[in-house]
Amino acid sequence: MFSGFLTVAARCPACDLDYDFADTGDGPAIFIMLIVGLIVVSSALVVEVVYQPPYWIHAILWGPLTLLLCLAMLRPFKGVLLALQYYHKAEEGRLAKD
Ligand SMILES: [Zn+2]
Repeated sequence: MFSGFLTVAARCPACDLDYDFADTGDGPAIFIMLIVGLIVVSSALVVEVVYQPPYWIHAILWGPLTLLLCLAMLRPFKGVLLALQYYHKAEEGRLAKD
């Protein structure tokens, strides 16, 4: 469903569904920030309490890990949110016309 790393394709190659509705906005980013933040901060705390390594070890460990986790999770999260948006027919709020 992607034509680039995070760019959504125009149509589904399998069923020809138009992806015009697809707009997850900041959705994937906020979930990933919360989840990766929890993982990295709690891991850093445990490592500090158990091993008390010098600070440069922390910098080497948690910087790249944060980047890798975020990049690895962005695509799957965006895919899931797009699927949920489609399934629940989520769209911008509109005033009812009567
Ligand atoms: Zn399809």
